[in-house]
Amino acid sequence: MQSRVALVTGGTGGIGTAIIERLARMGHRVATNYRDEARARAWQARMRERGVEVAMAPGDVASPEHAEAMVREIERQLGPVEILVNNAGITRDTTFHKMSALQWQEVINTNLNSCFNVTRPVIEGMRERRWGRIIQISSINGQKGQYGQANYAAAKAGMHGFTISLAQENARFGITVNTVSPGYIATDMVMAVPEPVREKIVAQIPTGRLGKPEEIAYAVAFFIPEEADWITGANLAVNGGQYMGW
Ligand code: NDP
Repeated sequence: MQSRVALVTGGTGGIGTAIIERLARMGHRVATNYRDEARARAWQARMRERGVEVAMAPGDVASPEHAEAMVREIERQLGPVEILVNNAGITRDTTFHKMSALQWQEVINTNLNSCFNVTRPVIEGMRERRWGRIIQISSINGQKGQYGQANYAAAKAGMHGFTISLAQENARFGITVNTVSPGYIATDMVMAVPEPVREKIVAQIPTGRLGKPEEIAYAVAFFIPEEADWITGANLAVNGGQYMGW
């Protein structure tokens, strides 16, 4: 496979790290953003020890200006972005009748508006070069809804609406756009959920366990090779059988 430039937002997190590592082992040149420089450099050094060289640029994906500057800095270091994984995300869980405007806005800005902010600066280059891969990391809870996550479920469902529109607009330009919708994965995001709640979640998963970040990275990698040229606008659910709808 040709070596490509891959930008994975939120690459320092649980799922992002696994995606970065997988894409690097496929021979791609990988990059991510950071907000906290000291933490990011420590992570970068750990990746280097594992043999993975990651280009990094500062950037809050919730800000259009930051995201554009981050993309330009990555392009300066590695060249044009050919593979984009919109992975950065947060939760601010509470039932809707108690939700503040800030909790709503932070989640929509970070999970959904970030897709605009980061994809907009790369899409024209992909169209000019007539090749690209754009993959959104959505969530099972964008497919089925979740008590206490109206903000998160709205953002994650919106990501797939974004995917299928972008897929239509860019198919003729050699760009595929797809979504991966993970179920519950054993990362900090899920380990922060109280243990009794986690046990109830696991009880609903037919495979009887949480997913691993590597299992999401595998699904992302599936969309990248030339053999995947005809797969666009798809949503790949990776959830241990917990939800089998669209
Ligand atoms: P983590 O909390 O481990 O990682 C999240 C990453 O996103 C971090 O690198 C974080 O950086 C970054 N990030 C958050 N906000 C911003 C921002 N405003 N600008 C730039 N970077 C930001 O989460 P996961 O790895 O578990 O989740 C990754 C994605 O997968 C998310 O979109 C999540 O919604 C989705 N997902 C996760 C599931 C799970 O079970 N874990 C299930 C379904 C979907 P920083 O260190 O600076 O905060």
